[in-house]
Parts: sequence; structure tokens; C-alpha cells
Amino acid sequence: MSTYVESIKSEYLKNVIDNAIEKNINEKEFIQALQEVLTTLEPVILQNEDTYKKYALLERLIEPERIISFRVPWLDDNGKVQVNKGYRVQFNGSIGPYKGGLRFNPTVNQSIMKFLAFEQIFKNALTGLPIGGGKGGSDFDPKDKSDMEIMRFCQSFMTELQRHIGQDVDVPAGDIGVGAREIGYLFGQFRKIRNAYEAGVLTGKGLSYGGSLARKEATGYGLMYFMKEMLKANNIDTNGKTAIISGSGNVAIYTCEKAKQMGIKVLAMSDSNGCIYNENGIDLDYIKEIKEVRRSRIKDYLNYNPIAKYFENSSEIPAIYNIKADIVLPCATQNDINLETAKLLVSNGTIAVGEGANMPCTNEAINYLIENKVLVAPGKAANAGGVATSALEMSQNSMRTSWSFEETDKKLENIMINIFNQCQNACREYNLGTNYLAGANIAAFKKVSEAMLAQGII
Ligand code: NDP
Repeated sequence: MSTYVESIKSEYLKNVIDNAIEKNINEKEFIQALQEVLTTLEPVILQNEDTYKKYALLERLIEPERIISFRVPWLDDNGKVQVNKGYRVQFNGSIGPYKGGLRFNPTVNQSIMKFLAFEQIFKNALTGLPIGGGKGGSDFDPKDKSDMEIMRFCQSFMTELQRHIGQDVDVPAGDIGVGAREIGYLFGQFRKIRNAYEAGVLTGKGLSYGGSLARKEATGYGLMYFMKEMLKANNIDTNGKTAIISGSGNVAIYTCEKAKQMGIKVLAMSDSNGCIYNENGIDLDYIKEIKEVRRSRIKDYLNYNPIAKYFENSSEIPAIYNIKADIVLPCATQNDINLETAKLLVSNGTIAVGEGANMPCTNEAINYLIENKVLVAPGKAANAGGVATSALEMSQNSMRTSWSFEETDKKLENIMINIFNQCQNACREYNLGTNYLAGANIAAFKKVSEAMLAQGII
């Protein structure tokens, strides 16, 4: 891990990173996210090092304001008591109420919660909307659970979480394993306990009770708006390109939908078991039926289209990355693309990688891609459309109004164009070429650090 900081000149920055590694040694995803952000901030740190040092700005930035960890007991369908861990990390509230999704997945632990919440601070700052960074979730596995089990789990989770959230305090949303169904159960329990209709306390709600049109589509659509802008800035047209998309959940599905609308042929999609490949282009209606309605495995695509091929994951490189495409869109989970996979993508002639997921590339992988002139749309900028539209949902809830799909989608598109411009401007100001990862980190850091300094040592 230390090799990553060897090139840093700022003693202050180097010390902060070294201490952070030592203090969080068992939290590898969190350390990875810290290193990724902090190492790219050096040009800004050097401009203002004394102030940042005096006010311990970086030390405060990397320490969560609060971590809540709690037990979630629930009854399964056999009447047996099950117990899971629950978390909410309220990382940084300097520019608005904490905001970030809830993840239900067996891999969830404190390290993953902290990395996601840390990323969220910068992502939310880039949206230009007044939202701070947070994240939460549980090691509960929703796979193969009945609807009643999901409901009982969500109710128990919210019974504790409700003490810590509120529309001006902390506003959770969905993430892996938490979609419209789970948000509905969580909101119902919140409303019952509080005896008040505070619609703005959760986002990603159903349309019948305060949800926003275009929220479901927002992360995927936003990713493609960002991608289009990034390619345009580099004189590349989206039309006629090919793409592969890892994952087949919310982000992957609506990335695919918008990609197709932009004239891109999506050749493959995946889940955690393997991928389906269709040389004529994936039929998204089948994927929606399998994933959104039947909650089944992607392999079932073959039942609808026997000409397609299915490849099971069998090596360290997920099967989908063996398929050549111009644009690669990792929309599943963290560390999907390691250095070996990045090398494969470069040798396959990949033009661009768009991170729909949070931290889908390891630090070594993303640096390799950038060094080899692959255009990388970094997750904290490119997938910010989801949280941005969540903030639009909060605005509609406060105004007790609802905007049309077109109106919301247009606002989303403008936000994504603005996010890309912020990344590009930072790249120009600091001579970073097309390193939009560094550009995103710098643009977001400037905003958050200004707010933190203005608010004193808290
Ligand atoms: P979903 O639960 O809807 O879908 C997750 C997808 O990723 C599924 O296809 C799942 O496959 C796959 N997946 C999960 N874990 C793994 C794994 N270990 N290896 C390979 N594939 C895996 O989640 P979302 O689509 O909401 O989220 C996807 C990513 O996007 C996450 O990184 C999330 O943090 C990020 N994100 C989501 C936002 C949103 O608005 N929802 C906003 C911004 C970022 P399987 O069914 O087999 O588990």
C-alpha cells in the first residue's frame, strides 16, 4: 500500500495518508478510497498547505462525523430468530444533510460502509446541490428471501435507524439490494413510528407516495449523459459504438436503456455468476423481466433468446471483460476491474470506461487505464445522477409538487453536463490532461474544504 504514496511531495499529505493507513489497517476498501482521493489532491494541497495543516482539514475530512452500528433482529418464515448487523455512517454534513444509499448485501462491513460514505461526500458536492455524505446498510442477504421476510427485516432495520435520520438530518436511499420494494417497507415503518408524513426522509420512493419520476432511471441515464459529454469533449461520437455492462441491477439496466437510445450496441450484461452475450445487441425487455419482475438469474436470458451465449465466471477476470467493446461500463460492485482486467481492456482497444458502480476499478487499474489513454468517467462524478435526482425528489417533497418525467430528466442531464464541466475545468486549471478522476476529486474537495473551513473546528 505504501508504494502508492511514494511520489507525493507534500509532507503534510504524506503524513495524513500514512497515519490513516495505520489507524484503519483492517479497513482495506476505506484505505483504497482514501488513497485514491488524497493522492490526487496534491496540487491543491500544495497551494494552501499551511492553512489545511493548521486547521487539521484533511485529518477531519477522513474521520466520519459519526458511525452508528446496531443489531437487526428479525423472524424468518420458519419462526426462527435471525440477527444481522446494521450501519449508518454520517461522514460529512458540511454542505447539507447526510445523504447516501442503504446497501443490503452479505459483504457489507464497516470498511465498505466507510468507503462508500467517503466517496459520497465528493459525489454529492459535485451535484451542486446542498447534500452531505453518508451511507448505510446491513450484511443481510435479500437473495432467496420471501417478500414477508424482506418486509420484517426492513421494519426491524428502520425501528433503530429512525432515531438517527430525518429530512434535515440524514436522508437514506437505495443501493445494492435496496430498491423500490425495500424503500416502501422502510418508509412505512418510519411513518408508523414517527406518526408524521415526512416524505423527504427517504428517496427512491414509489410514485404513489412521494417518489420522483426519473429517479429509477437517474443513475444509469446520468452515467450515459456524462459519458456522452466526455466523448464529445474528445471528439468521439457515441453513435455506432459497442458496449459491455457489468451487472444487471438498477444502474446497469438504465445505463443500457440510455446507451441504446444513443445508438450504442450493448453486447453483454452480467450478474455475480456470469454474463450473457448477444452479438446483435442485448434485448433489454428480457433483462427487465428477469431482474425486475422475476428477480432471477441472468442465465435465464437463454430461455428467451437461445441464440445468445452464457459464460460462467471461472477466473479472477469476470467473464464479461473477455468480450471486446469500445465502451466498458462497470455497474455492479467495487473492485470488479483489477490491474489484470485493465490490461485486458487496453489490449482490447477500449476507448472509454464509465464507472456506474462505486469504485469498480482498483486504484492500480484506474491509473493503468488513464496512463494508457483510456478515457475514464470516474464513479463519484459519472454515477452522481442518482443522488442528484434524489435531491430533486427532496425538493419536490418540500414543495409538495411533482415534476414531469421530461422536466426531471432535463434537470438531470444539465446536472451531469455541469459535473463534467467541473471535472474538465479542474483538469485544465491543474494541467491534468484527461485525468477526470483527479479533476473530479479536486473540484469536489475545493467545495467541501471551503465549507469545512468556514464552519470552524467541529
Ligand atoms: P442492484 O442491487 O440493483 O444491482 C447490483 C448488480 O450488481 C446485480 O446485477 C448484482 O448481481 C451485481 N453484483 C452485486 N455484487 C456483485 C459481485 N460481488 N460480483 C459481481 N456482480 C455483483 O444495485 P444497483 O444497480 O443499485 O447498484 C450497482 C452499483 O451502482 C453499486 O456499486 C452501487 O453502489 C452503485 N450506485 C448505485 C446507485 C443507485 O442509484 N442505485 C447510485 C450510484 C451508485 P447479483 O444479482 O448476482 O448479486
